[in-house]
Parts: sequence; C-alpha cells; structure tokens
Amino acid sequence: MQAPESQTFVTHLECGYTGEVFPADTIQGLSSAGKPLLVRYDLEALGQAVDKNDFATRPEGMWRYREFLPVRSGRDVVSLGESDTPLIPLTRMAERLGAKSIVMKDEGRLPTGSFKARGLSMAVSMAKELGLKRLAMPTNGNAGSALAAYGTRAGMETYIFCPADTPEVNVREIALQGGKVWRVNGLINDCGKIVGAGKEAMGWFDVSTLKEPYRIEGKKTMGLELADQLGWQVPDVIFYPTGGGTGLIGMWKAFNELREIGWISGDLPRMIAVQSTGCAPIVKAYDEGRRHADLWEGAATIASGIRVPVAVGDFLILDAVRESGGFALAVHDEDIAAAHARVPSEDGMLLCPEGAATAAAYEHALELGLVSPDERAVLFNCGSGLKYPMPPADAELDHSQSIDWDTLAMA
Ligand SMILES: *Cc1c(COP(=O)(O)O)cnc(C)c1O
Repeated sequence: MQAPESQTFVTHLECGYTGEVFPADTIQGLSSAGKPLLVRYDLEALGQAVDKNDFATRPEGMWRYREFLPVRSGRDVVSLGESDTPLIPLTRMAERLGAKSIVMKDEGRLPTGSFKARGLSMAVSMAKELGLKRLAMPTNGNAGSALAAYGTRAGMETYIFCPADTPEVNVREIALQGGKVWRVNGLINDCGKIVGAGKEAMGWFDVSTLKEPYRIEGKKTMGLELADQLGWQVPDVIFYPTGGGTGLIGMWKAFNELREIGWISGDLPRMIAVQSTGCAPIVKAYDEGRRHADLWEGAATIASGIRVPVAVGDFLILDAVRESGGFALAVHDEDIAAAHARVPSEDGMLLCPEGAATAAAYEHALELGLVSPDERAVLFNCGSGLKYPMPPADAELDHSQSIDWDTLAMA
C-alpha cells in the first residue's frame, strides 16, 4: 500500500486529440473537444526518483507502480487486493501451430473477476481524492461489477445501466456488491445516453469508458506489469480484445512512458485490436485507412465485453495500432466459440469469450501471414471463464448398476 504522503509526478491532463491542457487535481470529464483526456507526468523526475528494480521489493499488484499513477495520497487508494496476473504459456497450442511462444496473461484473477478492476480501482480512488460521492456508468457487465465493488468500498453511491441482454451473473453481482442496477432495452450507447441525460438531475459523475481520465491509468498497469514480469522487456506482438479500447490505449501509453524513461528500448510490441465480425467498428475503420470509426449498426456477438458499437477513443486505438505496426482483425463468433472450447481442453486454461477471441484471432492472423510464428505473442484473457456460460457436460452414471469400464474409458 502506498505511503500516505507519497509523491506522484502528475503535471497536467491533456486532450488526446487536440493537446489542449487541463489542470490536474480538478474534476474533469471529456476535453472541450469532446475527446478523452490523458494524464501527463514529469517522466524525467519520475525516472530519477525510482529505479526499475525497486518494484520487485514492493507488495504485488497494480499499486506498486504508484509513481506512474495519478493518486496523490495513499489514504485515497481504494483496493480489494489486486494481485499480479500470471503469464501462462499455451504450450500445446504453440506446438500445434509451430509457434515460438504464445503466452496468455490471465486477468481473470483480479477482484470482481476481470481486468475492469484495474481501471475502476483507479477511477474510484481518484473520485475519492476529488471528493465525488455518486458515480454512474453504462456497462456490458464487468465494468459495472467493478464500479459497484470499488464504489461501495469507498462509501459512494453507484448507478449502473446495462443492455437488456447483459449476462445475468453480471447484473446480479453488481446488485450484490451494492450497485443500483437497471436493465435497459437497448445497447451500451443507449445506456450511455441515460447517464449523460441524468447528470444534472442526479448530480452523478460519469465514469463511462474514457469519459474520465483515470480508468486508462489503471489499465496502463497491465503494460507496466507485463514489462516488469518480462524483466523490462516487451513481447513482439500483443492481441487485445477491443471494446472501448481502454486497455490497448493504456498499455501503449505505458510502453511509451517506459521508453521515454529509458527502462525499455528497441521496438515496442505490435498492438493488435481484436473484435468480433458481429461488432467491428475499429476493424472497419482500420481497413478503410480512417482515424475515426462509424457507429456499428446491429452489434451482436457472444463476446459481450467487446460489443461496443461506438468508442469515444477510436482514434487513440487506431493511432496505437498503426504507430506500433499492428493491425485490427475481426473473428467470427463460431471461431470464438471454437477457441473457447479448444484452449481449455488443449492447455487446461479456461477463458472468457473475449479471451477466446484473442486466441481465435492469433490463429487467423498466423494463417493470413499477418504474424510470424517467430514473434513472441501475448494474448489477453480479460475475465474469469467461470463467469460465462459453458457448453453442457451431461454424462450420467447409475451407481447401483455394474459399470462398463470399457465404455467409460472411451468417453
Ligand atoms: C471490458 C471488456 C473488454 C474490452 O476492454 P476495453 O479495454 O474496454 O476495450 C474485453 N473483455 C472483457 C471481458 C471486458 O469486460
């Protein structure tokens, strides 16, 4: 845990689109251009104040990278015991594909069972620091769960709006963790409109993806942690299931900050934005060579975490993908479902559908020659597979009858 008076190195906030500067330590949403704000640091002072080897001696988890984070006072940190997330080699998958190294970073181990914990632990801590008491967001499920949990822990009220077909488990976990939650007969952008419309009457603060500056900083810790775990090296290529893109933008920010400080050198990873063909606005914009994406009509995919028809940070995602020499790739839901079944049966690792999408995209990209089998790849499993529907397993046995062991062995 952060020392109460620990120093941070935040200098200001900056519009990710226009570069317009906004003061730190004040409540801010989007920039005056209606675009996401990015937190900027005095990286030179940061690099002098802390050594990259210092982190190994601190308790694990995202808060060990406090110098890279915006929270000024350790007393404002709202935590539920965030741990490091492991890097798990998918050895059999790599063997089957003739690939040098495929590693899954398993974010399902975090509090509330998804990497949304990183962003919301940070956003709620900053909300506490800035004196906010009532927070609201639209969510496909996991972000709402994390907001409810961290908000409740901080003693705040949370108002959460989900599309009608949000997985039951998410709606219930939100409610159980003290969130006020509604199902809305629309998609996440319709839910977002409710949050916008209620601002004045309800006096809540909008913690929608990228509509406040701090969730990115929480997700940035995935990049810091990954580089740290690899001995301040980075992989060649990262496959990231992209909805609002917070994690992809955050990791890219992390790698650039680390390079500026001089802790990593050489090529940064190629960033691959993975979407479903049922909702692929970023892939479409990438293919068309554009910097902004159009609203995706009729969004539908089994990977609900990446069912985001419009992303306010579209240009930040597309810039990161292009600057890194990566690409954006959509996979069919059938291939997501196949990978969701294959990876746990092959390598023993249960995935959420969005994590399965990265495995499907990796295989597809290999077939298309978009990645080489020599590139060291990191895929992201963003949530616990236990939260999602699994194919039925309904074999039964009658213990009062004699068992045919040969049949059993054939199962
Ligand atoms: C939110 C979410 C995503 C998308 O993450 P972004 O960083 O917002 O693009 C992917 N998978 C799951 C399980 C999620 O909850």
